[in-house]
Formats: sequence, structure tokens, C-alpha cells
Amino acid sequence: MAKEYTRAYWESLLAELTFEGRHFIDGARRASVSGETFTRFRPMDGRPGPELARGNSKDIGAAVAAARAVFESGAWRKKEPLEKKKIMLKWADLIRQHGEELALLETLDVGKPIMASLNVDVRLAAEGIQYYGEMIDKLYDEIAPTGPNARALVRKVPLGVIGAITPWNYPLIIDAWKLGPAIAAGNSVVLKPAEQSSLSAIRLAELAGEAGLPAGVFNVVTGYGEEAGKPLALHMDVDMIAFTGSTEVGKLIMGYAAQSNVKRVALELGGKSPLVVFDDADLDAAASAAAWGCFYNSGETCHASTRLIVQRSVQETLIERIEAVTRREITLGHPLDPSAQIGALIEEDHMNKVLSMIDAGEKEGGRRAFGAKRVMDETGGYYVSPGVFVDVTNDMMLARQEIFGPVLAAIPFDTEEEALRIANDTIYGLAGAVFTRDMDRAHRFSEAIHAGTVWINSYDISNFATPFGGFKQSGFGRDRSVHAIDKYCDYKTIWQQFG
Ligand code: NAD
Repeated sequence: MAKEYTRAYWESLLAELTFEGRHFIDGARRASVSGETFTRFRPMDGRPGPELARGNSKDIGAAVAAARAVFESGAWRKKEPLEKKKIMLKWADLIRQHGEELALLETLDVGKPIMASLNVDVRLAAEGIQYYGEMIDKLYDEIAPTGPNARALVRKVPLGVIGAITPWNYPLIIDAWKLGPAIAAGNSVVLKPAEQSSLSAIRLAELAGEAGLPAGVFNVVTGYGEEAGKPLALHMDVDMIAFTGSTEVGKLIMGYAAQSNVKRVALELGGKSPLVVFDDADLDAAASAAAWGCFYNSGETCHASTRLIVQRSVQETLIERIEAVTRREITLGHPLDPSAQIGALIEEDHMNKVLSMIDAGEKEGGRRAFGAKRVMDETGGYYVSPGVFVDVTNDMMLARQEIFGPVLAAIPFDTEEEALRIANDTIYGLAGAVFTRDMDRAHRFSEAIHAGTVWINSYDISNFATPFGGFKQSGFGRDRSVHAIDKYCDYKTIWQQFG
């Protein structure tokens, strides 16, 4: 029988929680070389959380040295594929076994509802590690066509040391998206999680060690972007940076790669994804997808459906239904309350930024249909209710900038050409969707939207078999699927001439 979770249960787990916020380098927790720490304030109530090690270039140096040493030793890279697979599958099992603890750490850091952390984030992190673990003994190299007197092997070889820099919105999931393929391919990793969300990363690394991953293969250095992320991206002995975060910082990362050792870069960046609804669509399905697509995780989702491009004749009905779905299903609450569907925003500064963008949106002519207000301020936490703006035009800030909060901008259109032009009129290209019963149009439209993922009559449904990532300024390189392995490898030709 499924366990019944209550708020009291999670409160009691929290009361027992002790956490040492140190780096994880070469198989052990370590304080910063400088001895400095920083405090993270909990989004759920604004109270201080665990102290964390404040990493800088010295800690990054130690982690990169450990990662390089184990790579060169071959202790992981040269292990039998079956052995490597067993270790990664055990790691995935340990993630599941420690699911409640990991979920609590994630909720403490991010403010997302505990049941989402448990049933979505922890589950998908374990699946990610498992998926790539299972691939390890199924990857073949190639033999290229040659004349009879030669044999040319085309080997896929690991790059070496991978620096992973990740954001705070889905820490466990995004870490697993990078760790799974990078480590399965034989690389070592130094992960710099976002300063807002380091707890789950440290435990992930410890569990990897328990599963048998050799010391140094997976290291975590916590700290701020400028102090710890930048030296990682500039490091001369790092072969690649796998980055997920804002487009602004993504551009800096490309610069650091160019200024240092021309390391490879993969970037998963921001989005302002369109969800297009035609008047022949199933409006209930469209309303549900639009509400959940934009408001899930309090809108702190890179591929959130933040632009609702709706045929003018059905705009009013659709907005009414979105409001009904939001009030009925998308309950905002304390993150430890198992009935909460959305929780707090990540931090006070971010909440204030979201609120000021809401104000600016009103001033530029967006009309608030409902919500988008600060709520539950008596808790000390950072809560904003989901809300919709109508009568937005695509040149307004509401339609152009990533708000990263629960704010949906509805933009009306009259013709299919106009809908497509608006959908593609953005610097981003992460995701999109079209709702229509006309399958010819659905096909035409899904091919024409410039985005890494396009849904037809749905939103945000996916699995590990499908690549995820962006076009345009949403970045390049793909997470998930068998193809994600490629970016952590290089091809090497070995030509043998006979006779
Ligand atoms: P951010 O760009 O501010 O930070 C991301 C990471 O980069 C953090 O670890 C941060 O410490 C680090 N960083 C910051 N400055 C740095 C610097 N100068 N050098 C090196 N590292 C630095 O992003 P965020 O606020 O953590 O996350 C939100 C952003 O991430 C949004 O734009 C969102 O769309 C994007 N995102 C994209 C995806 C995707 O898959 N495309 C997924 C999640 C989030």
C-alpha cells in the first residue's frame, strides 16, 4: 500500500535533519580552502538554512585535479562496461532509497512542493542515472570503409574532465541530465550547482561514492557563479562546460571557453515558449495545458508556456477556463503540505523582480485577468499567485522577457500566418505547442515553429528517449536521449595499414 504522507511527517523529518554543507572533492566532504561559508535562506519561510562552503578558484583547482587524476588512472574509464553499468544502476537505486531525504533537501532549497520533489524530481533523477547506466554496455564503436589493406577504427572516446554548471529550478533533474551521460561515457565531472540549491548535489555525489563510483569521478564545489563557476569555466584543464542557466550567463561561458583553452561548451538557456490555440481546438485540453504548462514549479521552468497565442474569437472563453483550472487544481501552499501543487519562489530578490515585472506589465498596457499577486507573506516565505495578463502584444516586455514566475501573457491573433509570425518572433527557441483539431495544420505548424520541442494538443510531456534543448538563443547541445552521450565524447580515428 502506498505510504500516506502528511505535513507532520515531513516536519518531523525536517526536525531531524542535520546537514554539513561542504564541498565533495575526491570522495569526501571538504571545507573551503578559504574556510569561508555562506548562508542560504529557505524560500518556504525566509529562515536561514544550512551553512554552505563558499568555493573559489582554489577549491575548483583541487576538484579539477582530483577529476583529472582519476581520469588518467583509468580507474573508471577503463573499467569493464558491465561493472560500470552495475555501479550506475546501484547509484540510481540509492537515489530511490534516499528519495524522501533528497526530496526534503530539494524542497528546502527551492521551495517547490514536497510531493513534486519526491514524485517528479527524485524519480526523474534516478531514471536519468539508470538510463545512461543501462547504455554503457550497448555502445559500439565503428569501422570505417577502407580498401582491403587497411582497417580504420572510429572510436568514441571520453573528453576528460567535464565542468557542469547548473541552475536552481530543477537541481536534481538537471544534474542527472548532465552526470548520467558524462559519467557513462567515461568522463570525470566537477559540478558547480547554483548557490541557491546545493544540498541535493552534495548528497547525489555521496550516494555515487556509496554505489562504488571511484573517488574523484564526481566532485561538487558549492558557491557563487563569479567566484566558483567562472574559474571552472576558465580552467585550462577542463575539457568541456555543460551549462544550464540564463542566456546572459551562457554568453559569458562561451567567452570564458574562448579566453582559456577552447573547451567545448553545451548550453541550455532561457525560453519564452509559445502555446498556440486555434478556435477549433479542444478548449478544455488547451486550458489545462496552458495553466499547468505555465504555472507548474511556480513558472520557474525554462520551457514554461509563457506566451499564450490565442485566436481572438476564443480568447475570453479560454481565459475563463484557465482561471477555473488554476483555482481548482493548481493549489498554492506551504511546500511541506502534501496537497500543495505549487510552492514558493526561489528567493526574496527573485520574488521582488517578478513583482516588479508584473507592475511594469500593467503599466505597459497588459490587463490582469486574475492573480499574479504576492500571497502568504505572513509565513516569511516568497509566494506569488499564478496569474494571467490579456490584451498583450508581442512587442511588450510581458511577451519578450523571461519573468520566471507564474505569469502568463495572452496574445490574441486572427490568422494562421499571424500566429506563426508571433510564435517565432522571439530570441528564444526552446519549446512550443499548437492546439487544433485540424491535423494538417497541426503538422504544418509544428514543423514551422523554431523550437527544440513542439507539442501537438499537449504540453510538457516527455521521456528520456527524447532529446531536450533549444534553438536560437535558447542554446545548443541536447540533454536526454541516446544523443546526449555524443557531446561528452570525441571521435578518434585509428588507421592501421597492412602489408
Ligand atoms: P543563472 O544563469 O543565473 O545561473 C546558472 C548557474 O550559473 C548557477 O550555478 C550560477 O551560479 C552560475 N553562474 C552565474 N554567473 C556565472 C559566471 N559569471 N560564471 C560561471 N557561472 C556563473 O541562472 P539561474 O537563475 O540559476 O536559472 C534560471 C535560468 O536558467 C533561466 O534563464 C532559465 O530559463 C534557465 N534554465 C534553462 C534550462 C534549459 O534546459 N534550457 C533549464 C533550467 C533553467
